[in-house]
Amino acid sequence: TTKLSNRVQAVKPSATLAITARAKELRAAGKDVIGLGAGEPDFDTPDHIKQAAIDAIKAGFTKYTAVDGTIELKHAIIAKFQRDNGLDYAPEQILVSCGGKQSFYNLAQAVLDPGDEVVIPAPYWVSYPDMVLLASAAPVLVQAGAEQRFKITPNQLRGAMTDKTKLVVINSPSNPTGMAYSRDELEALGDVLRDFPRALIATDDMYEHILWPDRGAFVNIVMACPDLLPRTMVLNGVSKAYSMTGWRIGYAGGPEAVIKAMKKVQSQSTSNPTSIAQVAAQAALEGPQECIGEMLSAFKERHDLVVERLNAIQGIECLPTDGTFYVFPKVQGLIDALDGVRTDLELAEQLIEQAGVALVPGSAFGAPGYARISIATSRENLENALDRLARVAG
Ligand code: PLP
Repeated sequence: TTKLSNRVQAVKPSATLAITARAKELRAAGKDVIGLGAGEPDFDTPDHIKQAAIDAIKAGFTKYTAVDGTIELKHAIIAKFQRDNGLDYAPEQILVSCGGKQSFYNLAQAVLDPGDEVVIPAPYWVSYPDMVLLASAAPVLVQAGAEQRFKITPNQLRGAMTDKTKLVVINSPSNPTGMAYSRDELEALGDVLRDFPRALIATDDMYEHILWPDRGAFVNIVMACPDLLPRTMVLNGVSKAYSMTGWRIGYAGGPEAVIKAMKKVQSQSTSNPTSIAQVAAQAALEGPQECIGEMLSAFKERHDLVVERLNAIQGIECLPTDGTFYVFPKVQGLIDALDGVRTDLELAEQLIEQAGVALVPGSAFGAPGYARISIATSRENLENALDRLARVAG
């Protein structure tokens, strides 16, 4: 048998995708399973975006494009960064990739060497640590539990930084916790980052638009600390804001030298993202933005329902979030109460097999004792799932 590389053996497959696959498997076998694992909106891609792609196919826009994205899409991204974030980029500072996932992958491959450390607040998006390992660098996890609203403090950040720190990751609003850093909190983190000029910063703004309106306007680390711009990579994409997860378009804005290196990585892996999807992404960014607001109010209504009902269940404690389509309840009480269940992984297994509810165990995000529940499913599904959870909890 083939010996697999040490590199690939050091990482695990995405746990969120695994739970979705298991739910599908059980459903195919005739079991009634409600999936609360989804990492994507349950809304359709808006029609004007689809139409732009259909027109592109008909017009024959079906060949290679520039590796780093069409100039038209880059201009749409530059306009978006100006409009929403007050950031000014030149086309050479923009890279379009096959999803936000590839943006981060390219970044890791472009800047990390063995021995480098990457500071990742936990709970984290499942892919950060593994993509860092694939680049032969070391993730340094900083734990932030519910008692601190899943946000790291400046002191914690300082404690994690060393002269080996090459990259610091900030994801706000966060997958899986739904929490967002305030401007004040970001300014305080920025004060620490200024003392470590060697470290790059990656702000993953994928959930920028899925922020409850009463939480104020979106802010990221460079909007809070403009002097950090020369060493900050802003990562974003159309997947979540426009229900376009299958189109695979993400983008990055940042220092030209790093963008150029990321482009080189991409040129030797995927080349350009799909030509047709790029036209669709351009239509998303340049077209009417009302679709976002409609989705947002549906998510907020479901969020309010789910948080209230979860907190009524014995053994579950759930903080209200700032945004995203996830909630991240503490389920340790339920784990302690159920026979034969010792960990959040075993809880997730028992819930999927016996209660017909699929959620993702917190361990997948570096937070044992918690679970991620996706509210990107119908109200009816959510109510049924909550009934089932309440029944299990007794
Ligand atoms: N960043 C975060 C925090 C995410 O949750 C996701 C998707 O789950 C991504 C990036 C990647 O999104 P994409 O589907 O565009 O690759």
